[in-house]
Amino acid sequence: MPVYKILVHGGAGTIRKEDMSAELEAAYKQGLEAALNAGYRLLEKGGTALDAIKAAVVSLEDNILFNAGRGSVFCKDGSQEMDASVMEGKTLMAGAVSAVRNIKNPVELAYAIMTQSPHVMLNGQGAFEFAKLHGLAIEPDEYFFSAFRYEQWKQMQGSDDFALDHNVKLQAETQAGNSFSNDNPSVAKAAEGKPSSAKVREGRKFGTVGAVAVDMQGNIAAATSTGGMTNKRWGRVGDSPIIGAGTYANNKTCAISCTGHGEPFIRAVTAYDVSCLMEYKGLSLEEAIHGVVHDKLLKLDGEGGMIGVDAKGNAAMVFNSEGMYRGLKGSNGENQVLIYK
Ligand code: ASP
Repeated sequence: MPVYKILVHGGAGTIRKEDMSAELEAAYKQGLEAALNAGYRLLEKGGTALDAIKAAVVSLEDNILFNAGRGSVFCKDGSQEMDASVMEGKTLMAGAVSAVRNIKNPVELAYAIMTQSPHVMLNGQGAFEFAKLHGLAIEPDEYFFSAFRYEQWKQMQGSDDFALDHNVKLQAETQAGNSFSNDNPSVAKAAEGKPSSAKVREGRKFGTVGAVAVDMQGNIAAATSTGGMTNKRWGRVGDSPIIGAGTYANNKTCAISCTGHGEPFIRAVTAYDVSCLMEYKGLSLEEAIHGVVHDKLLKLDGEGGMIGVDAKGNAAMVFNSEGMYRGLKGSNGENQVLIYK
């Protein structure tokens, strides 16, 4: 019987049960389940791993709880810039997009670049023009707005610091619903300049999303999408759209999607390093991921984690932070959605 399986993540970092309301925890779990189901439905019908990861990431991008697509974090200048990438293990074809604004589903744009251009990565305005040319959905700023992310940014505005998604953690986070709503951006915008009533707690949490899958044919694929880091300099590009850093897929080894502090992940060429350890050293997926996440990344102060799968259906979800939103659904009956260690 061919094995097929999909894994998703919704970010890693200081994610503690004691900081989470039951309501918010349920909402995160539902979001992860919906993404798994969106991909799994395709795999079940004989669909490709590539289509499955794309569907899963679109579902997470559309969910305002996660820092990708709708609900992305704010840059230093108050804009929302997003990065995404996709890679197919069978062909080693890849597509990526960096620092784009107003693209509803950056992963769809990465896919279009991979399938409809001779390039691997397009950036900013050029990527936007390409999206228009290919009829991809474009949304106004209001669509991406989340009062919660806006409040996070307000905590840091004017400083040169940039936070790893929820580095500035608000009391409001424990209240699902209102704080994530984008119904009335003008209310939050009107509060500009006024002292915030939200209590700030320190915490490192990364809200990037990603998916990896293996299909009935034994092909694997990976995708990652993010709004990056709160108060990042506009134009800053993290690991997520960089093939080999945040995303990688090769049928011979593994499909990987990462989340965490992008700079160390880029310097460690993280996703490709897992693949190399498997290809050149003969390590298993599990061994390779553990070595990279718990040794190499930690030496660079690289907090975060990753999900991976190989062509035989071996899977791993590993992180060196306190938690990682993650889930897995497979043809052998596996069905898990987890948050904490
Ligand atoms: N890796 C992403 C970045 O640095 C952030 C994240 O994973 O949340 O842009």
